Formats: sequence, C-alpha cells, structure tokens
Amino acid sequence: MAMEFSEKASCQKYFTKAHDLVRRSVKEFVDGEILPYIDDWEEAGEFPRDLYRKAAEVDILGIGYPESLGGTPGDTFFKIAASEELMRSGSGGLVAGLGSLDIALPPIVRHGTDEQKERFVKPVLAGERIAALAVTEPGGGSDVASLKTEAIRDGDHYVVNGSKTFITSGCRADQITCAVRTGGEGAHGISFLVIEADTPGYSVSDKLKKTGWWASDTAEIFFDDCRVPVENRIGAENQGFYLIMENFQSERQFLCVMANMTAQLAYEAARQYAKDREAFGKPLSAFQVTRHKLVDMATQVEVSREFTYRIAAKIDAGMDQIKEISMAKNFACSVSDRVTWEAVQIFGGYGYMRGYIVERLFRDNRLLSIGGGTTEIMKEIISKFIL
Ligand SMILES: Cc1cc2nc3c(=O)[nH]c(=O)nc-3n(C[C@H](O)[C@H](O)[C@H](O)COP(=O)(O)OP(=O)(O)OC[C@H]3O[C@@H](n4cnc5c(N)ncnc54)[C@H](O)[C@@H]3O)c2cc1C
Repeated sequence: MAMEFSEKASCQKYFTKAHDLVRRSVKEFVDGEILPYIDDWEEAGEFPRDLYRKAAEVDILGIGYPESLGGTPGDTFFKIAASEELMRSGSGGLVAGLGSLDIALPPIVRHGTDEQKERFVKPVLAGERIAALAVTEPGGGSDVASLKTEAIRDGDHYVVNGSKTFITSGCRADQITCAVRTGGEGAHGISFLVIEADTPGYSVSDKLKKTGWWASDTAEIFFDDCRVPVENRIGAENQGFYLIMENFQSERQFLCVMANMTAQLAYEAARQYAKDREAFGKPLSAFQVTRHKLVDMATQVEVSREFTYRIAAKIDAGMDQIKEISMAKNFACSVSDRVTWEAVQIFGGYGYMRGYIVERLFRDNRLLSIGGGTTEIMKEIISKFIL
C-alpha cells in the first residue's frame, strides 16, 4: 500500500487522462447548465430541483459510487476533478446543495443493507430524490456526542422527537441521514436513522437566511413523534457516533477542495483585474505591492492544493489521515480567508458590490471554517495526535 502511494506521489500524477475526461464533461455541464443561470439562482436562494436529474444524466452525481447503485466507481481524484469544475460555477451554495448527497449517502453505502442501498441510495444517485445529512442541533454542533434528538424504541419503530438545524438541502430533502439518541448519554448512545420527509410529525422551517451559500437551501427540521421503522437504522444501534466521525473525513476533504477553489477563483479574478484596472496612470499590477500580493495568493493556493492532493492520495492508498485532513482543512481555510480578503481589496469598491465574483467568494468562504467541524475543533483533533 505505502509502496503504491510513494510511486504515485513521486511522479505527482494525481490526474490521468480518464480524470481529464471527467473534468471536461463536468466543465461542459457547468458551462451549459449552470453558469448562464447562477446569478438568478443565487438571488432566488435555490437552484431548480431538476438540476439533480440533469447532473445524474451526465453521471456527475454518481462519481465514486458503486456501479450496482447507479454510480461510476473510481479513485478520489475523479471526485476532486468534478468538484473543482463544479466550483468554477463560482457558487459555493450550488456546489454544497448539489453535493449534499455526498455527506448523506456514504454511511448508507458503507454500512447499510442491500435493501437500504436500493431504497435510499439508488434514487438519489439517479437525481430522483434529494438527500441531506442532519447532525447539528440548535443546542450545538461541535459537541456531537451530546446531541439530544431522541429516538425511543416502540416495537418495530423508533419514535423521534427533537430538531436539527443548519441542514444543507434541508428544505427540499426527501430523506435525511439523521443522528439521533437511541441510548444513554454520550457517544455510545447515538444511531443513524434515515428519516423520510413524508413521515407524519416531520416538518421543515422556511429557508434560513445566510451570509453566503445563497443558492443552497438551509433548514431547521422538527420531529414531533415521528415514527421511523427500525429497518431505517444504518448500522448497529448506538454505533452511530463512529459512523459520523468516519463520514466527517470525506466531508473535510471535500471542504478542502472547496476552500482551495474559492481561493483559486478569487486569485484568478484579482490577477485579471490587476492587469485591467488602472490607477495613477498605470495598471494595478504595475504596483509592486499588488504584484507581491498576487504572488502570495498564488503561492498559498498552490501549496494548499498540493497538500490536499497528497492527503487524498494517501487516503486512497488506505492510510489513516485524520490528523492530516484536519490540518489540511484549517490550512486551506486560512488560505481562502486571506486570498478572498485580498481579492476584494484589489477590486477596491467594486469588490464590495453584488455581481462581482470576489464579493460572492468572500461571503461564501466564511462558512468553510465553520461547517464540517470548526477550526477550533480541527485543532482539538490535531492536538490529540501531537501531544
Ligand atoms: C450554511 C451551513 C450549512 C451547514 N450544513 C450542515 C448540514 O448539512 N448538516 C449538519 O449536520 N450541519 C450543518 N451545518 C452545521 C455546522 O456543521 C455547525 O455549524 C458546526 O459544526 C458548528 O456547530 P455550531 O454552529 O453549533 O457551533 P458551536 O458548536 O456552538 O460552537 C460555537 C463556537 O465555539 C467553538 N467551540 C466549540 N467547542 C469548542 C471546544 N471544545 N474548544 C474550542 N472551541 C470550541 C466553536 O469552534 C465555535 O467557534 C451547517 C452550518 C452552516 C452555517
């Protein structure tokens, strides 16, 4: 395994021709089906539901999933290539909304029964149903082991009461992969249930109004005596905490890619603007201070991207990268924080105006160091490895 990795790393060949083909087809999809409409979708606070089906038709939703479930298996660099191209829509919200299945389905694919995969994975990968992940509660997101939504066993059902919040795609989700308390206090009393939105007692708030990620709908979800069949439980009872932690690893890798691309797009826009915009009779790029800013931005983005790729290759090779992925998330977010800040600065007043890409990137970026585990929680994880 390690041998395989070092071979891969030494030639730096993360992407092959096959990955490039996927990249090209996702680019075509973004150019044709997203870019012409994205500004309107951002303002509307959601994209058309039909986009899931369209993305499924060109095999985007199923990248990395087993063929038997309608997916196209492949290493993690297929997913990275696709995510990078989707991010070229310039809308973190669109990517998060379309990609909510990638945080909702993996626990079912890894730990579900064949029957559960047939019911809850296949229709989502076909773009027929929307899936979301529901872990965070109004009372707290970082302290997952203390979650309170209770699921009390009653014959062959669980009776679920409580609420979840900040759920991406939560307004329109047909099913949520939901963390609930089935046992006593702490990490050992948690299970994952797939709860369908048409279950009596299940209700959803209006779209939550956000700083960024406008094109994704974000909801609070309420459970009032929701009766959920025991057969909807993913994995063993009270083992859900481990499934949640496992799931966080791929989510954090995806957030690294989002942060790197947010920074990349902001850098590219600022570089072009610095060449086009003049002040004091010369282009902004003629000022050394601007050139050096762009150099720093380019350097930081490249280093962060390489670190993300390297860790992704190691994960693919079966290596444990919990510490490293936490480091990569914090590093990528610190880069995207700095780069989006400087990009707005280089754009001057226009950078603060709606309709300019750097303005949206700046807003969308703010979430990245909060979602999927905050910067502080990443540091807590890293500290356990190094101390
Ligand atoms: C737009 C958006 C989309 C989201 N999508 C989803 C989704 O699809 N599904 C889902 O389940 N959740 C989702 N979330 C929730 C997200 O994962 C949580 O917001 C995040 O985990 C933080 O939880 P919290 O907001 O409750 O903050 P809290 O846990 O209350 O933390 C507040 C502050 O305290 C700090 N803090 C907490 N504990 C410690 C500690 N031990 N040491 C040091 N500092 C600490 C945190 O770092 C943070 O700065 C989303 C959030 C947003 C904003």
